[in-house]
Amino acid sequence: LSTWASVVQGPPDPILGITEAFKADKDPRKINLGVGAYRDEHGKPYVLQSVKKAEEAIAAQNPDKEYLGITGLPEFTSRAALLAYGADSDPLTRGAISVTQSISGTGALRIGGTFLARHYPHAKAIYLPTPTWGNHIPLFRDSGLEVRSYRYFNKDTIGLDFEGLKADLLAAPEHAVVLLHACAHNPTGIDPTPEQWATISDIVKERKLFPFFDMAYQGFASGNIARDAFAVRHFVAQGHQVAVAQSFAKNMGLYGERTGAFSLTVADPEEKARVDSQLKIIIRPMYSNPPAHGARIASQILGDATLYAHWETEVKGMADRIISMREKIYSILTHDLKTPGTWDHIKNQIGMFSYTGLKPDQTKALAEKAHIYMTSEGRISMAGLNGGNVEYFAESVDSAVR
Ligand code: PMP
Repeated sequence: LSTWASVVQGPPDPILGITEAFKADKDPRKINLGVGAYRDEHGKPYVLQSVKKAEEAIAAQNPDKEYLGITGLPEFTSRAALLAYGADSDPLTRGAISVTQSISGTGALRIGGTFLARHYPHAKAIYLPTPTWGNHIPLFRDSGLEVRSYRYFNKDTIGLDFEGLKADLLAAPEHAVVLLHACAHNPTGIDPTPEQWATISDIVKERKLFPFFDMAYQGFASGNIARDAFAVRHFVAQGHQVAVAQSFAKNMGLYGERTGAFSLTVADPEEKARVDSQLKIIIRPMYSNPPAHGARIASQILGDATLYAHWETEVKGMADRIISMREKIYSILTHDLKTPGTWDHIKNQIGMFSYTGLKPDQTKALAEKAHIYMTSEGRISMAGLNGGNVEYFAESVDSAVR
């Protein structure tokens, strides 16, 4: 008998299951809208030119393969913090941000979850929006936090349930941790307005909640780095202490390079030294130190004015292509096909994902009849659409809802 004879079969990953069904489909019109990675106008993975140039510059420096330190490449982490918090951020100018490199956004969230579980001086409960990125729930649970939820999505309006959100945060116990998607909420594509963020900040202050921002899409949502950082910077300006998880997967297209950062605002440089020491104690037994290549690329881009400007136009190009697909779907459904229902939400949503409002039976029909694959609750990745398939997509949606 094998030692592992009693290990039970676990469920498959819901998103990867979609890709398998897509791969098995032989129809030439098939479209995969499950995958959360950018695709260019030909449906192909996209390596940014600014990334290629950064790699050439790095190759010319002939770097060695030595280990990085436990918290990663120092130029990278300071530039990542600058990108998130902005040059005029008070904690940044005072040397009061504790930051470490991480294994992309997921690793940043996990370091943060573990740090809170170990050092947060209050009850260790974290409130997540409903719905949220599927991985948040097991991630924070495995970090040792108690996972709770606050309302976020209104099914009827296919918009933000702002009343529910406010009521749930007002009812949360003092000092609870609240996870906020900094921009481009995954999976809904619905973000609070700046005014709503200001209200959320007031509630967080009133209830003494601790804000933990997941910023996986800075620049990728609106095409503008500062605009997408509005929530984080507003909270910091309002005097909140924050935690921030950053990913360079989407905005630099560095998915497989696993490039990210986790940061906390702290009281002063002396406190920073203590917090830094504890971050190292968390990271060292987990993976010792992070991979170097992606951090070198991001650092090169963020630290060179010409490359940075090039990168900014490329991020905006990706964001704009996605926004143009939203407008195209909206216009075909409402004007050309007069599809039943309202479709304003498609163009009002932001970022990689859209909650279409399609029901499970309709998404099933789209897969079986039109070879179009998305999650059963109707989430599509806008990046999977392009000039060559958006009309077929819209026509298929039209047939599915009639
Ligand atoms: N948070 C959210 C909300 C995300 O959508 C993602 C990517 N799907 C991540 C974090 C982390 O991704 P990665 O680990 O690839 O940076």
